[in-house]
Amino acid sequence: MNKSKAYTGIDVFRLIAAFLVVAIHTSPFTTYSETGDFILTRIAARVAVPFFLMTSGFFLISRYACDNGRLVRFLKKMTIIYGISIVVCLPLNLYNGYFGMEHFLPNLIKDLVFDGTLYHLWYLPASILGGAIAWMLVRKLGMGKAFVAAVILYCVGLFGDSYYGVIEGNTFLCQAYDCLFEVSDYTRNGIFLAPVFFVMGGMLADRKAERKHRGNFGPWAAASFVFFLLMLGEAMLLHHFDLQRHDSMYIFLLPCMYCLFQALLFFRGSRIVQLRSISLVVYIVHPIMIVGVRLAARVLGMWELLVENSLIHYLAVAILSAVFSVVFVWAAALCRKKVLPRFVPSLRVDESMAAFGSGNTDRSWIEVDLEHLRNNVKVLKRAMPEGCELMAVVKAEGYGHGAYEMAACVNRIGVRAFGVATIDEGIALRKYGIVGEILILGYVNPARAKELSRYRLTATLISYEHAMLLDRQGYRIKAHLKVDTGMHRLGFGADETERIAEAFSLKHVKVEGIYTHLCVADSLEESDIAFSKQQIDRFYKLLGRLEERGITIPKTHMQSSYGLWNYPELSCDYVRAGIALYGALSSAKDSTKLELDLQPVLSLKSRVVLLREIKMGESVGYGRTFVADRDSRIAIVPIGYGDGFPRNLSGGKSSVLIRGQRVPVVGRICMDQLAVDVTDIGEVQLGDVATFIGEDGEEQILAAEVADDAESITNELMSRMGRRLKVVARP
Ligand SMILES: *Cc1c(COP(=O)(O)O)cnc(C)c1O
Repeated sequence: MNKSKAYTGIDVFRLIAAFLVVAIHTSPFTTYSETGDFILTRIAARVAVPFFLMTSGFFLISRYACDNGRLVRFLKKMTIIYGISIVVCLPLNLYNGYFGMEHFLPNLIKDLVFDGTLYHLWYLPASILGGAIAWMLVRKLGMGKAFVAAVILYCVGLFGDSYYGVIEGNTFLCQAYDCLFEVSDYTRNGIFLAPVFFVMGGMLADRKAERKHRGNFGPWAAASFVFFLLMLGEAMLLHHFDLQRHDSMYIFLLPCMYCLFQALLFFRGSRIVQLRSISLVVYIVHPIMIVGVRLAARVLGMWELLVENSLIHYLAVAILSAVFSVVFVWAAALCRKKVLPRFVPSLRVDESMAAFGSGNTDRSWIEVDLEHLRNNVKVLKRAMPEGCELMAVVKAEGYGHGAYEMAACVNRIGVRAFGVATIDEGIALRKYGIVGEILILGYVNPARAKELSRYRLTATLISYEHAMLLDRQGYRIKAHLKVDTGMHRLGFGADETERIAEAFSLKHVKVEGIYTHLCVADSLEESDIAFSKQQIDRFYKLLGRLEERGITIPKTHMQSSYGLWNYPELSCDYVRAGIALYGALSSAKDSTKLELDLQPVLSLKSRVVLLREIKMGESVGYGRTFVADRDSRIAIVPIGYGDGFPRNLSGGKSSVLIRGQRVPVVGRICMDQLAVDVTDIGEVQLGDVATFIGEDGEEQILAAEVADDAESITNELMSRMGRRLKVVARP
């Protein structure tokens, strides 16, 4: 398993960036060279804050991060940090006479929203505002357009910053910018500067997610350096012609940051979380350390050395800030360990002996193994003929695995076609940010044509009448035409050549695919194989007749999972894989022509929440169907048919793994809980994980076995797993 590694390069550069910010506020080289100091603090160090912003964007703005909770958590966290920083810096505000300023309230609001209550704090409101704006832009416009919008904002900012001199001759523009400056002292704020860096961070995250990023350090570092030199030239020119009102924003800063970040992504390794906290604390407290160094210099009589020599001054402030931050972060970690209760991480079930899990795993849950899912995609693709694409069928919440978790994961590794059952499932996928084709395999009410068009969904034409009605709505719609070759469910009759041909020349509905469905592809019985071959034959004959009429045959498909397993020689444009994608057979009794190394994605788990001893002869549960024939130990597990664990598995028809041992479920399964006889397991404890589907130690229960016991198929079992279960993804 390739566990993804942490971004060590980014962690380390955060610290460097924090010390660059310290440099901005202490001007280390002034004693020696004004120009040198300008280059360091007004140009080079300007990469620091954009870097922080990009890092946040990288972890927040990705197209695949459609969990709104992430934005809310980020905003909350930054607001808390901002609040604490304001309080921490209050003594300096007092010292500077901040509270004595004129128009206190409007100025305070302005500072709180844009400029920060102390000079360096502007970064915090900027990241709150910029993060929210970037998030919204990406949500509403998509990554590309969001980037353009953010660049436009940045350009507006440029002319209020480094390029102010350019517009100084223009009274109208100057007045406009003066209005702006009434509200915010600078344009390097959350509206003009921050969004573009957030979006760029997100773009890089997407590239990574789509594996477009290759770990090339050299070229990116070189490109970054070239852009850095260009930025240097740009800044020196602007400085020379005295065009700068402020010096935070340059044109070449954008490509320079993009390449720098790419280069840093190359360094992967262990996670150094402390560096993040340390750099943040350095950032927040260094102004206090500046005052501290000055005070100390005065008290010790070392003013000349500690303050007047700019380099030593810088080093003193930097070292003091660093020492303080290290001690602070270390002490905070110690406190947290001592004071706060320790939660067992949700996925480390093996460690959860006496714990009850946390959050998502404290009752019953579905665990999905994304590594297995990715493996299955690879295996299926390898089994498909050249040029055939995988259509991931994620209807019914991805067969209970979580439509978002499944679709986002496979979309990331290049799957570009999805099958759903309903229009609402399709719309949900689009809202999750899924790109590519989404085919609705079932019926769509023609009245919803507008939504089909708006969300770029592909409809299935299930009959001639349906096609005509859909066309009459007047929206440009993509569709695949379904042909009934013998299943007699959806589709035009395979011999309705005339009407099918007509559907190809509709005005608004564009037929981009034609497909059929095999109804006994899962069987290797001779008569069933003959029937499937007949269906296949009917389909191809129809295609031949359409071709004779001069119709260009669009994308074709007919295999679902069993179609691929048992008829791998067919060569279509898509395979619509559902159950195989999830690594399960419909029934454990099935055998298939092709044997693929698919791995089960889903596990169904719960926990022991109560243990009781019962005497021989006592019963358990509704109907008193289970009567103990010995003194027994019974574990109560909070999962039931309300969670999709079938009630007809009652009466000893199912078992569960606890501590790696298989034990029977006894009595009737209730809506919300069931009982397990754990007499034969030595040591069961509250909080122990109970695995109903999946592996525990050496033992494994396959979904297909459970489905067989319940006299159903895996597809039904999984898709019925209730909404009450949370899906926990193992990355
Ligand atoms: C659900 C469905 C599939 C996927 O079937 P599996 O057997 O799970 O692979 C394929 N095609 C159509 C039309 C479907 O409705």
